[in-house]
Amino acid sequence: MGELRDRFWELPLAELSRAEWEALCDGCGRCCLHKLEDEETGEIIDTNVACKLLDTETAQCCDYRHRKAFVPDCLRLTLKLVETVPWLPETCAYRRRAEGRPLPGWHHLLTGSREAMVRAGASIAGKVVSEEDAGPIEHHIVDWGDIEGQDR
Ligand code: SF4
Ligand code: SF4
Repeated sequence: MGELRDRFWELPLAELSRAEWEALCDGCGRCCLHKLEDEETGEIIDTNVACKLLDTETAQCCDYRHRKAFVPDCLRLTLKLVETVPWLPETCAYRRRAEGRPLPGWHHLLTGSREAMVRAGASIAGKVVSEEDAGPIEHHIVDWGDIEGQDR
């Protein structure tokens, strides 16, 4: 991990180094969940079904370094993607910074640990099921917006 500048998360996303970009992720795990799209309205519908490589208890990728070999369509967020992907959660650090908003108050870069994020309910750890065990994905529609702390 390279040098992280003091309060780098307040800088425009385009100015972040690669290490700073990686460090911005809160590890909530929301981007590792399958989404459905309403064919008529185009609306994105959240599910609690996780990518097979996600550890559902920690919300961390089991093999981040080699993930593309196992999950070729795993999204590697770039600045351009942050501006175009329609389903990043309200709480996502990249989305918020791209929109010129501050990090949520519970973000580990502000609090020093991920405990506040877990307390706020923003982590999906322990709340999801692996795609390998889930069965029909339509049975797993959730509204994460109902979870406490999603928008703080
Ligand atoms: S939703 Fe955003 S902050 Fe959360 S894990 Fe994905 S990239 Fe990181
Ligand atoms: S491969 Fe890893 S980082 Fe990519 S979606 Fe799956 S769990 Fe998430």
